[in-house]
Amino acid sequence: MDTIYFDNNATTRVAEEVFSEIQPYFCEMYGNPSSMHTFGGQVGVKIREARERVAELLGCEPSEVIFTGCGTESDNTAIMGALSAKPNRRKVITSRVEHPAVLAVCRSLERHGYEVIEVGVDANGRLDFDELDKQVDDDTAIVSIMYANNETGNIFPIERIAELCKSRGVVFHTDAVQAVGKIPLKMSESEIDLLSLSGHKLHAPKGIGVLYVRKGTRLTPYMLGGHQEGGRRAGTENVPGIIGLGKAAELAGANLAEENSRVKALRDKLENAILKSCTDARINGDVENRLPNTSNISFEYIEGEAILLMLDKFGICASSGSACTSGSLEPSHVLRAMGVPFTAAHGSIRFSLSRYNTDEEVDFAIEKIPGIINRLRELSPFVAK
Ligand SMILES: *Cc1c(COP(=O)(O)O)cnc(C)c1O
Repeated sequence: MDTIYFDNNATTRVAEEVFSEIQPYFCEMYGNPSSMHTFGGQVGVKIREARERVAELLGCEPSEVIFTGCGTESDNTAIMGALSAKPNRRKVITSRVEHPAVLAVCRSLERHGYEVIEVGVDANGRLDFDELDKQVDDDTAIVSIMYANNETGNIFPIERIAELCKSRGVVFHTDAVQAVGKIPLKMSESEIDLLSLSGHKLHAPKGIGVLYVRKGTRLTPYMLGGHQEGGRRAGTENVPGIIGLGKAAELAGANLAEENSRVKALRDKLENAILKSCTDARINGDVENRLPNTSNISFEYIEGEAILLMLDKFGICASSGSACTSGSLEPSHVLRAMGVPFTAAHGSIRFSLSRYNTDEEVDFAIEKIPGIINRLRELSPFVAK
């Protein structure tokens, strides 16, 4: 049975072109780019090329690109680094729907005496901009708001937020892990100070990330040690990861148009067919302002986990909006922040596509899903029969 992979917001397949570009850097060109010899130096040249490719995708200078260990490290570095650069400021502003890589950091800061504001969202997951506007003041060390939400695909008004922060002299960070490669970015025309991305969400390997740091932004390094990355991130470079991310960035730039036409059309086809064939199904998120690849659908009165298990029997991979924590099914913090009713939050499924998905795969899923939903509804104790 073939795998039908609709879970690209969780991780993506490494592109063949990326894999073949990386391969020589394991057993042949394994030198340390910091070494004085030519053998190591040739690796340094490839790292420079990768940095230029990432800069091209972000529309920034290569010197503004710092390679990190993952998206999580980029998020942690941005927040902790901005705080140490402005030690007198004691307030941190974020949103209630961030990835744990941001939320867990903010909540830990709260325990250490910082004032942490988590700005809310409305029923469609749209950020309460007025609340944000009220909160950003001269005690604020950093504002961190994600570019696009990993669960719903919602895109936030990042440029507007960046301008607000800029006008008040506050550093602005955005977790753009889900946005990079799906929507065009141009840092040279933006007021964003810090931006995180992760390789494995755009067809590069796992364990490589980038923190974009706008020239002139004060940031204290988070990882201390050697002088790699211009003294801004210590640790011997993940050479294959960096080279792979460079290639993936180049491919992402070339595929942006396809992402927003063919992939979006596949997502829409899948979504519309499901809404048409299944009763009591609704979309979670801002339909007008979403990533082109993401669809989060609630199927009322049934458990997301049960849907996932039945999809899995057909080789279809997706995610549910509830996480099994200590035996009880907790609806995701994102759907809770949106006030999605309990019965709908529990039965939510996220389909996230990529350029590797085909029409045939979507047709297969469209054929199987109504049967799964009907079967589970028959078994549901919540549905009147
Ligand atoms: C996946 C993800 C991360 C974490 O990236 P890793 O490289 O897995 O650490 C952070 N933020 C968002 C929005 C993500 O989707």
